[in-house]
Amino acid sequence: MASEAHTIESFVEKPKTLAELRAEIVEGRTKAVDLAAGYYERIEKINPRLNVYLSLTRERAQEQAARVDALAAKGDPLPTLAGIPVGIKDVLVMKGAPATAGSKILKGYQPPYDATVVTKLAAAGAVLLGKLNCDEFAMGSSNENSAYGPVCNPVDLERVPGGSSGGSAAAVAANMAVATLGTDTGGSIRQPASFCGVVGVLPTYGRVSRYGLIAFASSLDRVGPFAGNVRDAATLLGVIAGQDAHDATSSPAPVEDYAAASDKLAGGLKIGVPDEYFAEGLDPEVRSAIEKGIDALRATGCTIKRVSLPHTRYAIPTYYLVATAEASANLARFDGVRYGYRSPASDTLSAMYSHSRDEGFGAEVKRRILLGTYALSAGYYDAYYGKAQQVRRLLAEEFLRAFAEVDAIVTPTSPIPAFRLGEKSGDPLAMYLADIYTVTASLAGLCGVTVPCGATAAGLPVGMQILGAHFREATAFRVARVVEAAQLQG
Ligand code: GLN
Repeated sequence: MASEAHTIESFVEKPKTLAELRAEIVEGRTKAVDLAAGYYERIEKINPRLNVYLSLTRERAQEQAARVDALAAKGDPLPTLAGIPVGIKDVLVMKGAPATAGSKILKGYQPPYDATVVTKLAAAGAVLLGKLNCDEFAMGSSNENSAYGPVCNPVDLERVPGGSSGGSAAAVAANMAVATLGTDTGGSIRQPASFCGVVGVLPTYGRVSRYGLIAFASSLDRVGPFAGNVRDAATLLGVIAGQDAHDATSSPAPVEDYAAASDKLAGGLKIGVPDEYFAEGLDPEVRSAIEKGIDALRATGCTIKRVSLPHTRYAIPTYYLVATAEASANLARFDGVRYGYRSPASDTLSAMYSHSRDEGFGAEVKRRILLGTYALSAGYYDAYYGKAQQVRRLLAEEFLRAFAEVDAIVTPTSPIPAFRLGEKSGDPLAMYLADIYTVTASLAGLCGVTVPCGATAAGLPVGMQILGAHFREATAFRVARVVEAAQLQG
């Protein structure tokens, strides 16, 4: 007992880089099947403590890894992600694997197809390990809304990993995958990445196909990568980006070589710092970490310029109106007939609908359906949803004016570092308010990267958010590389 008490378990482990792993696989020093087996071993060992994976896809991973090894043995050229172990947020569908979206209502649902991003990862040789825990239907900021239990932050097990893509962030932080995919509707990639000390990418709306994503709010939902470093995140984005005939909102804009573009030095870029993101409510330790990051940018030769985004103050109500309205429409399809859970205790059709939804959805999802239905109802539509769309336009225009003067805008990703499990779960409004720095880019359709930027005295990671204009991901990556290279400590 005594000796156990002295053992401090650390779950934080940095994955090797794509370049290192690729060299090992190409030169035959590592076999993809062994790499995958090693990851499964680590997952078996620590997943009971962290609750990161909801299901594993061993057979598919084994087949994919064996294919990579066969190519390598023949000396054939290997695709970009050959043998790289990747995890997928459970709101994205993979043929043959359950997809729960963190909800009881989808328990037992087996999707018959792969999401486009899954198809693209597989075609690039990635080995897909399994499905990652998340807030129910991606609604939340702490992963505490998952019907399958919260994820623990690998940095401090008593704290949340952030959300909704908590599993995707924690998996990379604890080296339970080299990279992962998550989704971001109002911050769900950026905030958990910052809480767990990893890199997360919000691609421009339309940059990555949403086909096979279980929809939350369709005008805001994005799919994007998490990785242990900026260059790898850029490589992942290059693999999953591009137009898709299955998603009419996907853009024909050419896909750049983001990784190569991120190698270009950022000196000379103009960086905007918005006053409104350094105001009341910002944790002083987060502020000082971000200021050090800004100093690093200045030292590289970037010009720092104050900008103003006054509509930021309307961002939270605007986001929570648009997101809940769209969610109430999207979630109408879960009726106990077509997918997953059906209440057994009903003798009429309408009772079956309502019991299935009542028993299948969690409290936060129900709250959003109610709010969204109200905002869309006759008589309130113009006052709420219509007004929110107008404010959304103003916010987007304000950003475009700022981007006429600067190449990128930097802010804290979250006003606070990872909070304790249970600390905010009883207060939905406090949880919503903490999304203040991320929902703006979601509403405006912009791209962004969050990169680790120092830590608090207690060792909690701080993330810097770097926003780019539409389809300017390469610029955001270049700026992120500078902050990453500065290796800021607490
Ligand atoms: N925290 C925000 C919400 O609860 C964002 C979630 C997300 O981006 N999926 O809506």
